[in-house]
Amino acid sequence: MEGCIFCSIAKGEVNSYKIYEDGLILGVLDINPTSLGHSILFTKKHYNNIFEIPQEEYLHLMSISRAIAFAIEKRFKVENVDILYSKEINKGVIIPHAIVFLIPRYKDDKIQYYLPKDEKIDLNDVKNQIMNEIEIIKGGENQQREETKKIETKTSNNTNNESDKIILPEKKKKAIA
Ligand SMILES: [Zn+2]
Repeated sequence: MEGCIFCSIAKGEVNSYKIYEDGLILGVLDINPTSLGHSILFTKKHYNNIFEIPQEEYLHLMSISRAIAFAIEKRFKVENVDILYSKEINKGVIIPHAIVFLIPRYKDDKIQYYLPKDEKIDLNDVKNQIMNEIEIIKGGENQQREETKKIETKTSNNTNNESDKIILPEKKKKAIA
């Protein structure tokens, strides 16, 4: 996409500290690292966000993300590598391209995700809201499949049941079971 920094990096128009490349994915160091080894992985093709990435390409991106996180973890002896997706970067700057952050975490680093102590969240309500939305998405997906079978309430542990899975409706045909 014109004007997208990540597309420009993918085309080689902008210099980068490239750490990985294959036919679909590019991995580079973040030039404003949150921590040592902070990397960014993204599709060479432009997508506005991860929800637009076709299922198989998305799975490839996540697979590579995990592998590179493993490499970072081994090399730098970090405690953990956070694998993050965000539509926003620091200070509310919108990222125009679907990317994944790998943020190595070190002992006693100052990176925090904690909710302020005076803020409380009703976990039951949050649980119900997310589960309801999942059912709505699955409902739409099944409608697109033109299946008449009613989605059964999940009572079994059979994880091979297709109706138990959620994928984004528009990508259903490419879903990997
Ligand atoms: Zn782009």
